[in-house]
Amino acid sequence: ATPTALMVGTGRGAQLGILIKGPEVLESTRRVDTVVLDKTGTVTTGRMTLLAVHTTEGTDEDEVLRLAGALEHASEHPIARAVAAGAEERVGTLPAPEDFANVPGLGVQGVVEGHAVLVGRTKLLAEWAMDLPNGLARAKTEAEAAGRTAIAVAWDGEARAVLEVADAVKDTSAEAVTRLRALGLTPILLTGDNKAVAEAVAAEVGIDEVIAEVMPQDKVDVVRRLQDEGRSVAMIGDGVNDAAALARADLGLAMGTGTDAAIEAGDLTLVRGDLRAAADAIRLARKTLGTIR
Ligand code: ADP
Ligand code: MG
Repeated sequence: ATPTALMVGTGRGAQLGILIKGPEVLESTRRVDTVVLDKTGTVTTGRMTLLAVHTTEGTDEDEVLRLAGALEHASEHPIARAVAAGAEERVGTLPAPEDFANVPGLGVQGVVEGHAVLVGRTKLLAEWAMDLPNGLARAKTEAEAAGRTAIAVAWDGEARAVLEVADAVKDTSAEAVTRLRALGLTPILLTGDNKAVAEAVAAEVGIDEVIAEVMPQDKVDVVRRLQDEGRSVAMIGDGVNDAAALARADLGLAMGTGTDAAIEAGDLTLVRGDLRAAADAIRLARKTLGTIR
């Protein structure tokens, strides 16, 4: 394509809500055959709500919410916001943690009212040699089968509760996947979340291939592995944990509603956070480069 054609392409992109870093970006989309989509905040809204609390016998629900909410209040993760907001609504002002640490891809840990508290994946609990008692494990399985994320809460060496949180699939996501497929691309859902949850979301939007329970630092390796298989990969994401994968991908598409880290790492930005613009972008690039009419 001529430089003029490329400039026209970028101008049209702006009209469609796509910000392209430079005209040369259009060139990289030519060979893309695989689209890796982050789940939370990309396919789903990322605005989660706390839906239910399951406790072990003798555990006070308000105490669960106070301790878990206090820790999550210090985190910016979408799950953390849901738990903190839900807790505040139920029990009022939350205490300030005496100690707090974010454990990327797993959850949060710290000290609240003198208790050593963990909130996050069962894998986080396992690191402290704790597992879920039967009743909580059942609640977790049922929640996940329904497409919800189950978060474990433990303190003083014992698992005490499972929290159910969920966010909604964006109403544009299924159509976006259909359009990406129509362009001959294979969609893959990539997430740090549980496999059952990921599969429920994938089924809802029409994605067959799911790569779940991937640690934030390992997302980039998934992209690399696909490239090693000879695929040309577009990655769509919104989070800090997607930045390396966005940079590594043949084409990185950042959600404009996402983090600055993702936007900086991407080759282009879907300004309105509407996934359908990803298909528009690829279509536009091909058209500009004369591969389709
Ligand atoms: P995603 O890849 O879907 O954007 P992350 O990699 O950020 O998700 O997190 C993976 C999983 O780790 C979450 O689904 C959740 O189970 C757990 N997790 C991460 N951060 C938190 C937190 N602050 N509170 C509770 N659970 C968390
Ligand atoms: Mg995300």
